[in-house]
Amino acid sequence: MKAEIIVDVKRCARCGEDHQKVVFKKLTRPGPRHQYWAPCPKNQEPIMMRVVEMDTAQAKDAETNGEQMEVKTFVFSKE
Ligand SMILES: [Zn+2]
Repeated sequence: MKAEIIVDVKRCARCGEDHQKVVFKKLTRPGPRHQYWAPCPKNQEPIMMRVVEMDTAQAKDAETNGEQMEVKTFVFSKE
């Protein structure tokens, strides 16, 4: 698990806006629901996120499309 990942946030759970290239940091003690967090650039409240591996079928589709996609998807907490 990377210590930091940069992700575009759509409809931020904290302020409702989109944010580009937010740096998410790994939690010191990641749980099953949250592994990363970043402060909302607007109000500095924490955005919680986890990284989910895509299943094999989706991964295969991504490969046949030519581009080598990162086989991960980012799930933001709505809490
Ligand atoms: Zn925000």
